[in-house]
Amino acid sequence: MDARRTLPSVERVIQELDGLPHEILAACAREAVAAARAQAERGDPVDPDDVIGDAKQRAAAIGAALLRPVLNATGVLIHTNLGRAPVADDALDAARQVAAGYSNLEYRLDTGERGSRHEHAGALLAQACGAEAGLVVNNNAAAVLLALAALARGREVVVSRGELVEIGGGFRVPEIMAESGCRLVEVGTTNRTRRADYVEAIGPETALVLKVHASNYRMVGFVETTPVSELVTLGPPVIVDAGSGLLDESTPWLPRRPSWLRDEPGVRQAVEAGAALVTFSGDKLLGGPQAGILAGRADLIGSVARHPLARATRADKMTLAALQAVAFSYLSGDATGIPLWRMATGSVDDLSARAEVIAAGVPGGKVVDTEAVAGGGALPGLTIPSAGVGVDAPGPSGERLLARLREHGVVARLEDDTVVCDLRTIDPLDDTNLAEALRTACAS
Ligand SMILES: *Cc1c(COP(=O)(O)O)cnc(C)c1O
Repeated sequence: MDARRTLPSVERVIQELDGLPHEILAACAREAVAAARAQAERGDPVDPDDVIGDAKQRAAAIGAALLRPVLNATGVLIHTNLGRAPVADDALDAARQVAAGYSNLEYRLDTGERGSRHEHAGALLAQACGAEAGLVVNNNAAAVLLALAALARGREVVVSRGELVEIGGGFRVPEIMAESGCRLVEVGTTNRTRRADYVEAIGPETALVLKVHASNYRMVGFVETTPVSELVTLGPPVIVDAGSGLLDESTPWLPRRPSWLRDEPGVRQAVEAGAALVTFSGDKLLGGPQAGILAGRADLIGSVARHPLARATRADKMTLAALQAVAFSYLSGDATGIPLWRMATGSVDDLSARAEVIAAGVPGGKVVDTEAVAGGGALPGLTIPSAGVGVDAPGPSGERLLARLREHGVVARLEDDTVVCDLRTIDPLDDTNLAEALRTACAS
């Protein structure tokens, strides 16, 4: 008998699939039937149930790749691959309310005239860090590019050789500078750059001095950098790429300054030291949505806002609404509503107590001491004491357990022969989901 005669029709296969739009399921069915036809043409018998199984697998693979929430059990607070900072409920509510209808995004309700989208979140964030004016764009990479293009195109920008860093994901300071159309003038050495090095490099062609937070790496030993307070005495405006965006070194929005923050520089301190502009991310230590924030002198913010790239990199209304709520949290001096700070400052005792409850329901589960990290290029080499649930998984069983956890949307990590779920990056409301995923993954 011709093996092709047992081929199920595409329509027949689609009937067995669900959970995705018809168009996607139809494509999976067509591909599965085509694969089976090729098999039949080689003379191999085809079982219709296998064709349906193949189509189901194709649909499942597409479903698994869709953007969806996961549980971050890695202990990395600002995990770029997992979406960086979770956004607070009040910020999400604000975004929903503004986006669900019309808003005064670029409209002045008092005069009935055209307004600017920078008058809301941008102005409030500037106030929160003591700057004259602020501007919100798509991300910090865009903020740096925009500032350089608007203020230094065709002219020179002086940077320390120790700050010509790659942040990751393709953000390399020399390349961003080249894209902006300014000329990079390197000064000093990798490990030491003094004020005198800058003085020597500054001339009539100098538009700016740029200081870049080294973010994801740390130099120790025979090291010397020139602080913003000295750079501002050189003459040209100083732009600081602060990266992670710790709004204020003294963290007035927390009851206590966490010791693990150590010497992480604050945006407010850079402004106070005389920086003309400071740029930082919205979704790192600020704890908001993806955005790039420029804060500083009103005249420079004005020049930047008028540049064509500002139009190409502008933030959307949902981001601006969410950031307005984030700015309110900081201005009210209470960051308990910001998930990042709530997670970052929770006590180890509380985490251990939660871990005990979860571990009790997981075969082989135990409470383990762990070390969480800020991530996102902030505070390299510094760890935050933490606790989690560990499951012994020697040899290849460790990777297998991690893979099964991922099937349940849990991203954990392997430490020696133990699969570790760090609770610092898990919302307590997700503890039962995590426990359930661990139970199922360990049982299979
Ligand atoms: C993270 C970072 C960037 C890039 O910021 P994005 O918001 O990811 O575009 C740029 N500079 C520094 C110093 C950083 O830490």
